[in-house]
Amino acid sequence: MRLEQITWVQAEAYFKKNDMVMISVGSVENHGQHLAMGTDNIVPARLTDLIEENLQGKMELLIAPHIPYGVADYHRGFPGTMSLGTDLLKKVMNKLCEDLFAYGVRKFIFLNGHAGNTSVLTEVAVDLDTKGALAAIVDWWDCVGDINEKWPNGGHASGVETAAVMGINPNWVHMESCQPLIRHKLAENMPYVGMNKIEYKGVKFLVPRNYRKMVPNGWSGNDHPHTATAEWGKEMLAAVASHVADFIMAFHKVEIE
Ligand SMILES: [Zn+2]
Repeated sequence: MRLEQITWVQAEAYFKKNDMVMISVGSVENHGQHLAMGTDNIVPARLTDLIEENLQGKMELLIAPHIPYGVADYHRGFPGTMSLGTDLLKKVMNKLCEDLFAYGVRKFIFLNGHAGNTSVLTEVAVDLDTKGALAAIVDWWDCVGDINEKWPNGGHASGVETAAVMGINPNWVHMESCQPLIRHKLAENMPYVGMNKIEYKGVKFLVPRNYRKMVPNGWSGNDHPHTATAEWGKEMLAAVASHVADFIMAFHKVEIE
């Protein structure tokens, strides 16, 4: 049930019986030369549809409108990236959750499309816990390797995300423009080896910078975008949605201390 499509009368009736709401958060940012800027909105939108299908006839779940902007300041070196930033996203989430809390919501599902949002959502969840509510953060890309070991936990615009978008709409994937993975070096003896991480004499240190200064092509990860297929994407999203729907039903029953 979508909050946008019901009346306040229906919303009031829902809140009398239910204390759970799902809200998804995304981002508008660089996703390499091959993926749409809205990838982190496109994937949660499809997962939301699939989760709703999975819950059909089993559990009523109110779904609040998606938040399309997140924390992506470190992608601003790539034109088109738009970011609320950490402080503003936290304010937005706290305010919206406060409204829902006032209507009786005590269980929140944050369906997240973007790793840059996770630390803010974690802070919001801890604030909600202090107030006597509970929030679960679903970082979908982090679930895939646990659900099926043949799927890697994805990087940024790497195989996992590319497959997901291919499985939703191949027109939003431009593999002909995909460039090789290039990682810059901070110095000759300090190559970037992972997100914000350089390695010096075998030991890793965090030296966070604008993403373009670390990976000029805008994607990184161990799973190359060329490994992606639409079939993989469809199967992966279906499996994630099924598992998350199952989790939501179990989470619904958790007693808040
Ligand atoms: Zn993404």
